[in-house]
Amino acid sequence: MKIDILTLFPEMFAPLKSSILKRAEENGLLEFNIVNIRDFSKDKHKKCDDYPFGGGAGMLMTVQPLYDAIKSVKKDNSKIIFPSPRGRVFCQNVAKELSKFEHIIFVCGHYEGVDERVFQLFDIDEISIGDYVLTGGELPAMVIIDTLSRFVDGVIKRESLDCESFSNGLLEYPQYTRPSEFQGLKVPEVLLSGNHQEVEKWRNDESLKITKQKRADLME
Ligand code: SAM
Repeated sequence: MKIDILTLFPEMFAPLKSSILKRAEENGLLEFNIVNIRDFSKDKHKKCDDYPFGGGAGMLMTVQPLYDAIKSVKKDNSKIIFPSPRGRVFCQNVAKELSKFEHIIFVCGHYEGVDERVFQLFDIDEISIGDYVLTGGELPAMVIIDTLSRFVDGVIKRESLDCESFSNGLLEYPQYTRPSEFQGLKVPEVLLSGNHQEVEKWRNDESLKITKQKRADLME
């Protein structure tokens, strides 16, 4: 999958260069390309924002640099995403859906947002990462990229996806690793028993218990 990221703040995408995403790119599973929207501004000072018509607080990103930046990377099969508080709400199923695209373009808004005409010029999927307002679309884009990447074949082990939170509508069960006792706290006996059926049953029960305690809404 190729991911183009259009932003005024390329330095905010440093996390793409570490850990699992870095390895996925090195292995050819993902390709990230960061495009500085400012490079497309036809303004002599490379300005990319202006005051909103009608007045109001803050600045808006202007339409021309956005239009040209999108045109420079868009292909027939491109999916364009604009992280936005007014978009459909992101979740694990949306991440799974997005992981099927061959080419995604993220357009990152900043300041008070963008000139509305960009949504008339392109078919854009607006996605919100929650009911709160961030300073820009860069962190939401990172959240969406990180989450959808996990569903791209080969990025992480299939089994990790099958038994984690939300995969079956429940939260994950508690997990432990060595040592089996620390500060007087012992790992539940059943996990040391080697009885796979019993372990499975314990994990299911714990998943149900934790989901009921912390996120009863998932069970409705
Ligand atoms: N004036 C906008 C409003 O009231 O909805 C908020 C603009 S916000 C300060 C700047 C940019 O951050 C937005 O254009 C969007 O790209 C991004 N953003 C902020 N909150 C977001 C959220 N919850 N989910 C996704 N993107 C968000």
